[in-house]
Amino acid sequence: MSESFEPYEVFAIRYAERGAMHNDHILNRDPHDGPSPMDYFVWAIKGNGRTIIVDIGFEKKDADARGRTILRSPAEGLAVLGIDAASVEDVIITHLHYDHAGTVPDFPNAKFYLQEREMNFATGKHMAFQGFSRAYTLDYLFNMIRKVYDNRVVFVDGSMEVAPGVSVHHVGGHTDGLQVVRVPTKRGWVVLASDASHYYMNMNTPNPYPLVYNVGDMVAGYGKMRDLADSDKHIVPGHDPLVMKEYPAPFPEAEGIVIRLDVDPKDI
Ligand SMILES: [Zn+2]
Repeated sequence: MSESFEPYEVFAIRYAERGAMHNDHILNRDPHDGPSPMDYFVWAIKGNGRTIIVDIGFEKKDADARGRTILRSPAEGLAVLGIDAASVEDVIITHLHYDHAGTVPDFPNAKFYLQEREMNFATGKHMAFQGFSRAYTLDYLFNMIRKVYDNRVVFVDGSMEVAPGVSVHHVGGHTDGLQVVRVPTKRGWVVLASDASHYYMNMNTPNPYPLVYNVGDMVAGYGKMRDLADSDKHIVPGHDPLVMKEYPAPFPEAEGIVIRLDVDPKDI
């Protein structure tokens, strides 16, 4: 029961975007294609005297190389919420893809919570296949390996509680070591899906995102998240522009940049 824990506030910070087509986002192509842009987020969990960041985005030079548009650095986005990236002590990395693990130097005081399987996957034999390796940026992996040598990476094998009530859970599928995050809030258990479901429709159709290591694990992941969350409305997809429309800004100056996920979504 989420009531047994002090509730946390949960925020999504939108830091980048790109244009794309609907069929770019699904394994089984749809005869009805059309424009379907992608948003890029980092997330912040606040409560119980803790500030936990989930994923850390990518840098401008990577955006230029990959044709993405950076709106603000993840650290600048966190500053809108009054969070100083340099002071953050806990960062959950859902997986090591470039758009989730790219600004390690902006978090010099953080411990990074990562599935051991993700590091093995990102540095192992499967990276010989360009279809898998292209979503990683080698410089970002080097930065994370430096944190291993500094004893600042907490390797997770399956599930782990990161703070009272806040836990990570291995899902795999999209990458071998992808994990999701579960948070007790005043509206119940919220699950940050990250790339376990890029868009609502991936999970709801279901039709997996086409960048996938193990399709079976990805589909099973939708069920795992439903077991962890209080309802489908408590599962927050990783890249869907709809979430910016469904959830309110925490204060007027944050409009279009930050939304609150610990309040019920609007019906749209
Ligand atoms: Zn990914």
